[in-house]
Amino acid sequence: MNALNRILTILALALVSPWAQGQSFSLAPLPYAYDALAPVIDEQTMRIHHGRHHQAYLDNLNKAVTATPALAGLSIEALMTQISKTGEAVRNNGGGHWNHTFFWQSMTRPSQGGSPSPDLLAAITRDFGSLDQFKAAFKSIGLGRFGSGWVWLIVTTDGKLKVTATANQDNPLMDVVSERGQPLLGNDVWEHAYYLQYQNRRGDYLDAWWQVVDWTVVSTRYADAQKK
Ligand code: MN
Repeated sequence: MNALNRILTILALALVSPWAQGQSFSLAPLPYAYDALAPVIDEQTMRIHHGRHHQAYLDNLNKAVTATPALAGLSIEALMTQISKTGEAVRNNGGGHWNHTFFWQSMTRPSQGGSPSPDLLAAITRDFGSLDQFKAAFKSIGLGRFGSGWVWLIVTTDGKLKVTATANQDNPLMDVVSERGQPLLGNDVWEHAYYLQYQNRRGDYLDAWWQVVDWTVVSTRYADAQKK
């Protein structure tokens, strides 16, 4: 992504923030074209995933928040960190909104994603042995997530990197998951994320996905996590 696109994306995200939209959450456009991730992720999958699945999570999140005045005005991050109190509808649909927004921002055109920053690579090497060993762990945990869910790279509360998985639309920010942390990267292992192109071959999807990971974004997230 070039600098102008980055600025436009930030502006678009600012415009659709709950404060600008009277407490309601909105679908931001993708930070790239629907066909930008092909051949790793095909255009039709991206259109359905963003325009129907993500939109449906948003619509149902807005309904749930509107029906619960105590939640009015809370940011999506604030909802995530107290999800034990918000009810199942916000857990499933707010999680769906947060996870997909994070997912779209984690990707870029094939081979345009650069590589981990020196600091991030050092932490990956420290905690996994090597970048390849980290990728193998990520694939293994992603394959091992039975049914629908997500696989994550997180910074734990004691500053270590760890690969975890969550069920359904849960994520590591939620106060209900067994392994909480600051997410740096997440991949969607629901069948809707890959089935049109990869059918039941989740492992092939997990292998190919590295080609579209935006390591610049992931490295920035790691640097930000270090400041917290
Ligand atoms: Mn999805």
